[in-house]
Amino acid sequence: MIDIIYDIQEMSRLSEEKRSEGLTIGLVPTMGALHEGHLSLVKKASECVDFVVVSVFVNPTQFGPNEDFEKYPRDMDHDISVVESAEGNLIFAPTASSMYPDGYATYVTVDNLTDKLCGASRPKHFSGVTTVVSKLFNIVRPHHAFFGMKDAQQLAVIKRMTRDLDIPVEITGCPIVREPDGLAMSSRNSFLSAEERDQASVLFRSLQEAKTLVESGVTDAAAIINRTGNVLEASKLMKLDYIEIVDPVNMTPVDDVSGGGMIALAAWFGTTRLIDNVLLHGKG
Ligand code: AMP
Repeated sequence: MIDIIYDIQEMSRLSEEKRSEGLTIGLVPTMGALHEGHLSLVKKASECVDFVVVSVFVNPTQFGPNEDFEKYPRDMDHDISVVESAEGNLIFAPTASSMYPDGYATYVTVDNLTDKLCGASRPKHFSGVTTVVSKLFNIVRPHHAFFGMKDAQQLAVIKRMTRDLDIPVEITGCPIVREPDGLAMSSRNSFLSAEERDQASVLFRSLQEAKTLVESGVTDAAAIINRTGNVLEASKLMKLDYIEIVDPVNMTPVDDVSGGGMIALAAWFGTTRLIDNVLLHGKG
């Protein structure tokens, strides 16, 4: 059976031990309720490093006051079996009170990239993410860390943070894993009613429409967003948060996709907020 470490000092000690044995360490940060998207990250990590640590921590600082922190799914037995099946070596599952003890006062923020897209509707979200990821990097001291491209803005923010702060960890982005109908796998999909789940595939269909348009030679971002919006209208239950075409590194808007771009969206189905994106490969 796979080992689970709950204690921060014990995790640090074990990492030191592995490093002194000359082993490379990979970290896959997650909030648990693991699915095949997470599994793909763990598999990728086990191809790249000697010792794979999967952190499972529902991080309170990345949730807004009225968000789904309390009801976020938690299932450690399930997570253990997923990590085992993907040949991860260890789960690190610290408690919230050990990560953020009384008097906790330090946050890491990345400017510019974080006020757009998801950052516009979730103002403190990315500072929660960069803070917890910095802490996990300091505790686990990985050589390599793995993040999904489903959270493309998060990936860009983490890459910028590690570069700006000279954190000696290599960041790898992994492709989005989808359900057969195209819906991006997410721990939050379990919140959807049958009808919402059925309609949620419209997100991917709309992004595919954008990709097809670009492949047929359309480069005007406004026109692409317009047509994508028409596809989204097929779902009566969906409420759009945003849809934008941006540069996938800086998250700045792109008016013309000749040189490429990323179309990203967030949408509500009832009380569940889902995100997705697709890279657009321009011909320029
Ligand atoms: P989460 O547990 O939702 O915080 O996600 C942990 C990591 O798994 C993040 O790097 C996510 O981008 C990644 N991830 C979540 N869903 C998927 C997916 N469907 N495909 C690939 N990576 C994913």
